[in-house]
Amino acid sequence: MPKIEAKPGIMDIDLYVGGKAHLDGVSNVIKLSSNENPFGPSPAAQEAVKRCVHDLHRYPSSDHIELRTALAEVHGLKADNIICGAGSDEIITFLCQAYGGPGAEIVYTEHGFAMYRICALASGATPVEVRERDRITDVDAILEGCTEHTKLVFIANPNNPTGTMIGMAEIERLAEGIPEQALLVLDGAYAEYVEGYDGGAKLVEMRDNVVMTRTFSKLYGLGGLRIGWGYAPRDVIDVLNRVRGPFNVSNTALAAAEASVRDTAYAEKCRNENSRLRAWLSEALAEHGVPCDTSTANFVLARFGNPDEAKACDAYLQKQGLIVRQVAGYKLPNCLRITVGDEPACRQVAHAVGQFKAGAR
Ligand code: PMP
Repeated sequence: MPKIEAKPGIMDIDLYVGGKAHLDGVSNVIKLSSNENPFGPSPAAQEAVKRCVHDLHRYPSSDHIELRTALAEVHGLKADNIICGAGSDEIITFLCQAYGGPGAEIVYTEHGFAMYRICALASGATPVEVRERDRITDVDAILEGCTEHTKLVFIANPNNPTGTMIGMAEIERLAEGIPEQALLVLDGAYAEYVEGYDGGAKLVEMRDNVVMTRTFSKLYGLGGLRIGWGYAPRDVIDVLNRVRGPFNVSNTALAAAEASVRDTAYAEKCRNENSRLRAWLSEALAEHGVPCDTSTANFVLARFGNPDEAKACDAYLQKQGLIVRQVAGYKLPNCLRITVGDEPACRQVAHAVGQFKAGAR
């Protein structure tokens, strides 16, 4: 039987394995590996999902107008410039499908989110990875990495898994400096955690070469429903809608997202708790001899002395029922990424890291 080959580039993709959710033989695990909101979704979102039970036989809305209107009202945006997807992963996929392809180059940073490379290769484009400066997005390196073939430039701000971010002046310099045939994509999956940061929405409105992606999986606690959105110039939205399936987002996801975005008090409470506990966790880990970069998101990047120590600590934490994330795949083998959990989880993980550093195995 002849082997049916996938198109070029597909076999260069490394499988994206999500964070572990279970540990064999351990009950009551604490999962701090996928940057989920430890407080769960807004109660209003849970009610909205329950109401959907009666309509499961119905296809969802295909234009997502209710959610786009809610997003526009709450964030002061234009509903016509919004597109919804099954997670922001799907918006990233649409961008690569529509603007990538053979001959195109897609630029992202060395510790950037894994989906940029995966979607670039899946589209047939060439992924171009550029260096960061001390785990911070380096605008000069990105500009140096661009060529006349660059179609997309992805940065996550704040970045996963480093937690670092760059300021608006740097982002504007990037948007100004990329080649004219390229789009800058500002991935704002963690933007809600940064007080007063709009994820680049206003820049999208001011320029014709900037796109913003956002998610309901993090602050809004709806990772299980798969819903995200993008904000872009009208011509880009028109392009993306052509590769979008008509019913790409479920009715439960749409209803929960709309209720969540309108529950601004709950979002505020989660953001404040995250800021408080992130500061506490970073300090506690540093006191145990494990420094963290200054994180602006809902996780910290804990730095160990070497890759073996990071791996051994991960193994020790698992024995204690704590699941965190190794990030060797992100070229950070000395590090573990730890989601900011609720207060007991933060105390437990800090305590266990302390025990490990004191010699426990
Ligand atoms: N961008 C970044 C930087 C992320 O960390 C994630 C989730 N890990 C995503 C996008 C995708 O999130 P989702 O598809 O759940 O919206």
